[in-house]
Amino acid sequence: MNRTTACPEESQLLALAAGSTDVPPSLRPHIESCPTCLRNLRRLRAEIVHLRASIAPDDWSPPNSLIWRSILRNN
Ligand SMILES: [Zn+2]
Repeated sequence: MNRTTACPEESQLLALAAGSTDVPPSLRPHIESCPTCLRNLRRLRAEIVHLRASIAPDDWSPPNSLIWRSILRNN
């Protein structure tokens, strides 16, 4: 099997879903060819869209994650 990379942390998928540039480019080939990562990425993107549409960032404390803060500010 041509499995060279382990699945990335969900936090990294989350950053990628949010369009962050903090994601190492080396992760992309894995994510683009990994059904598990693609599914997670799609789910995270949907969650981000939902959050941006439904939550006022000033009134909400992200769950223990600077990533969420950057996502919600990155409009
Ligand atoms: Zn994967």
